[in-house]
Amino acid sequence: MMRALSLLLPLMMMMMTAAPAAAQTTDWTQAIVEWTRPTTPFRVVGNVYYVGTAGVSVYLITSPQGHILIDGAMDPSVDGIVANIRALGFRIEDVRYLLINHAHFDHAGGLARLKALSGAQLLASVGDAPDLEAGMTAGRTDLLHFAPVHVDRLILNGMHVRWGAIDLVTHLTPGHTKGCTSWSLRTAEMGRPLDVLFACSLTAAGQDLTGGNPVYPGVADDFRRTFRLLRGLQADVFLSFHPAVFDMEAKRKALEAGDRFAFVDAHELGRRVDAAEAAFEKELEAQTAAKRGR
Ligand SMILES: [Zn+2]
Repeated sequence: MMRALSLLLPLMMMMMTAAPAAAQTTDWTQAIVEWTRPTTPFRVVGNVYYVGTAGVSVYLITSPQGHILIDGAMDPSVDGIVANIRALGFRIEDVRYLLINHAHFDHAGGLARLKALSGAQLLASVGDAPDLEAGMTAGRTDLLHFAPVHVDRLILNGMHVRWGAIDLVTHLTPGHTKGCTSWSLRTAEMGRPLDVLFACSLTAAGQDLTGGNPVYPGVADDFRRTFRLLRGLQADVFLSFHPAVFDMEAKRKALEAGDRFAFVDAHELGRRVDAAEAAFEKELEAQTAAKRGR
């Protein structure tokens, strides 16, 4: 893994310096170290397993007929993800569908190789598919490029992604990217039915929220619609795509101590959306004031 990372970093630095002069020069080195650090896989609840890294979430949803994998993390993490799946007693070759929460390099970077290794179909939203196939986030020169990956099928809001007994409902929740996608899933733990939500990132991610980005002028309206949509959902288990966003490590400790419902909190979705919305409005206000002051 470290060898792959040491090969990848110079390449990424090269791509960053190749960006236009006006580009922000975000140094992702530290973040990438955290995002690619391996962690032990575990069963979250029901047939939902965590197979990601310490910093980027990847979920395996299993069925006897085959599995669904949500998110690809970064390319240097792919071997670790495959090993995590194997350590839990499953096989990457049995993954039938690959899903992606949003087309940024830290989540989409591993998709191309995971797709090749699994032979799975990649399903993605209309909003994110072009960026996945281009291997970059359009309109963002501060974000890193990633391996382009072919999208096999487009998914729409409300569409069910079914395989075996797995039935995931698609919720298009744009804002963080144009095609940011969340899913909900009914599973059961010790006989108790539970609604799990895989929520797309709810942060502004350094975007111009005032409509100044010609590639995504409607970003603010999308965020507000997304907050409304999420408030209308029911989630006993709130999961997202960076473990820190939903206090995964604290919950995992409680789980390991014997609490099979450590990830169950029916109020968490509401709390997370409230916090995300407050942060969004504050950021929009600051950006609007800064523009006016110019
Ligand atoms: Zn992102």
